[in-house]
Amino acid sequence: MVYEVIVDISNSEVDKIFDYGAPFSVRLGMRVLVPFGRRQVEGFVIGTKEKSDYDVKDIILKLDEEPVVLPEMLDLMRWMSRRNLRLVDCLRLFIPSKLRGGRVKVLRRNFVLLADGVDVEARLPELARAPKQQEILLALKEGGNFESELTKRFSPAAIKGLEQKGLIRIVSEERGRTPDAIRAESKQIVLTDDQRHAIETIVTGKESAYLLHGVTGSGKTEVYMNVIESVLNEGKTAIMLVPEISLTPQMLGVFRARFGDRVSLLHSGLSDGERYDEWRRLRSGKARVALGARSAIFAPVDNLGVIIIDEEHDSSYVSEGNPRYFTSEVAEFRARYHGAKLILGSATPSIDTYLKAKNGQYRLIALKERANRKQMPSIDTVDMRKEIRSGNLSIFSRELLRALDKTLAEGNQAMIFVNRRGYASFVRCRSCGYVAKCTDCDVSLTYHKEDNRLKCHYCGKQFEALTACPVCGFKGLKEGKVGTEKVVAELKRIFPSARVLRMDNDTTSTKNAYLDILSTFAEGKADILVGTQMIAKGHDFKNVTLVGILDADLALYFSDYRSNERTFQLITQVAGRAGREQKPGRVIMQTYNPNHFVFGFAAHYDYEGFFEKEANARETTKFPPYSKILRILVLSHEDEQAIAGARTLYERVKAYAAAHPEAIIRVQVMRAPIRRIQNYYRYQLVVWLKKDVTEGHLEAIYDEVRRLDVKNISVFTEINPQQMV
Ligand code: ADP
Ligand code: ZN
Repeated sequence: MVYEVIVDISNSEVDKIFDYGAPFSVRLGMRVLVPFGRRQVEGFVIGTKEKSDYDVKDIILKLDEEPVVLPEMLDLMRWMSRRNLRLVDCLRLFIPSKLRGGRVKVLRRNFVLLADGVDVEARLPELARAPKQQEILLALKEGGNFESELTKRFSPAAIKGLEQKGLIRIVSEERGRTPDAIRAESKQIVLTDDQRHAIETIVTGKESAYLLHGVTGSGKTEVYMNVIESVLNEGKTAIMLVPEISLTPQMLGVFRARFGDRVSLLHSGLSDGERYDEWRRLRSGKARVALGARSAIFAPVDNLGVIIIDEEHDSSYVSEGNPRYFTSEVAEFRARYHGAKLILGSATPSIDTYLKAKNGQYRLIALKERANRKQMPSIDTVDMRKEIRSGNLSIFSRELLRALDKTLAEGNQAMIFVNRRGYASFVRCRSCGYVAKCTDCDVSLTYHKEDNRLKCHYCGKQFEALTACPVCGFKGLKEGKVGTEKVVAELKRIFPSARVLRMDNDTTSTKNAYLDILSTFAEGKADILVGTQMIAKGHDFKNVTLVGILDADLALYFSDYRSNERTFQLITQVAGRAGREQKPGRVIMQTYNPNHFVFGFAAHYDYEGFFEKEANARETTKFPPYSKILRILVLSHEDEQAIAGARTLYERVKAYAAAHPEAIIRVQVMRAPIRRIQNYYRYQLVVWLKKDVTEGHLEAIYDEVRRLDVKNISVFTEINPQQMV
């Protein structure tokens, strides 16, 4: 037998399949140690065949007793690699990083039991001279005990003695590391008619995919849990995805209250040990519900019954790093493989998804009202230009300040959303106009007051804060748009007795930071939570009656065809955090652009209206979902190399486009909006393809990318990019 092996080295030269023999039998999906050149490296067995065209060497060792990669995942790997991804990078997504190289220890603890058939009373006399051992036996009579607890009361020698006499036995048990959750009680809930209808439609429906379009607070989670329940009853498994790691502690609490330890959590914020243990619980079938952020779509569960993607519109479902993948595509693959159902849920579905639902590709189910039967919170738009004209230069409108005052006086909570971290987004000299920029990126720096540094939000590089302009020496530096840090400082100045929390990338870098901030707020130990889009999604706090959106326009100015959609989604999501239980909620939305159509639709929760207008515009301008956009990014440390690569590629793709007008609408080449990041010069090709273009045409373009032999460049391809920076 010849084994086909992928070696665990990420390098395009070795991303091939190598043949090996073995003096023992190896199963598909196992990790093995193989000779590779003069080294020994780990690899994955991904196939077998009768004979090889080469002189093969033997596999040295099997690294697992059981395959770590399921056959399904091998198919998935082949399918993903059609999008210009390296095989080994795909495989690495499927297993916890610490499993590779075998670096994780399984934690164990010992459980002490009476030996079989021991009659404690009858044996006590023979231990007359060992009263401690008598006590231990009596304690064990009540039931087993953990060794660690026994040794708090008794000496290890006493325990050992009993074991030697054959009176007790010590069983070693694997101890799973489990992530923390925000504790939730299992609520006694009477489902609304809409919820009941939704559950029934999904459970009994013949369709394979569903879009659950439910307003914020409509109780989608309850629908998901009921569907999962019915899937578990059939002996199947489930995957439940949420868009943010910061949402998982709350969801885990709710899920544990319902499903106990049948739930496992998987996301990149877990410690290596936790991830490894949770992964193994799923792989072994002990846990049957995989809950997590994007990467949990690769959960090692078999016999899948349902995959749920909550807040399906969220951009975090498209991975940014290497390898890039669309979670929804992987979900569709896995659902098809298992004949499982796919449920996409959102209050603000992406234009793409909603169009599919309208066209009948997904069955559309609507939850139009909040589960508590309360009104949606009212959204008031404040024109910040008027504030300035009437002399208010503060970041808060008078309306928002009044509302905050009232909220605090009534003992309720408020959330303030500002989509920028740090203190101020740029620092400019008032005299000569100099702007502090990163040395490695073509990006202005953000001032962080807490550590008094200037930071680059693209590469993370830090610089000394400025007291004077380095060019002209002028001491009057102007700070640009405010970030979360400054908002907190201002709130503390205006409301000195308010307890203010901040949640953004800077305050959540340590492991339990999310959990700490969110539980503090949930327990009412803080009055105001200030945050970036991290606080926009999903959270369910019952005492929040006021939501302030500081600059609702921000997302409108990105050079991106999705900017209207993003803005609408963001406002609806943030607004949805208010008034979720008994107390009514209110939203104040500050903007410099109050007449923009997005705000009108958002303020009236008019998703349909927004969809019609936006979909029409996309159809006219030929943007997705009415086309496919392929962006090819060419990077190099040398500007000339990057240009050369982009030009060559452009000529070839243009020639291909000319020959295939049935597939390609147009091709453009240009500098990327951010010209340089981490010292890489950046150029991009943008290819507009017809929306139903066949894989063959994409394959042909990827081939051109692979054939490109310009030195010292890297090329990345991306379909319908989330952000064209
Ligand atoms: P969504 O995800 O749709 O925004 P959630 O699932 O978070 O909404 O539910 C919002 C709140 O409503 C939660 O506190 C939930 O416990 C509660 N809830 C859900 N269903 C019901 C119901 N049928 N009756 C009362 N409360 C409910
Ligand atoms: Zn930088």
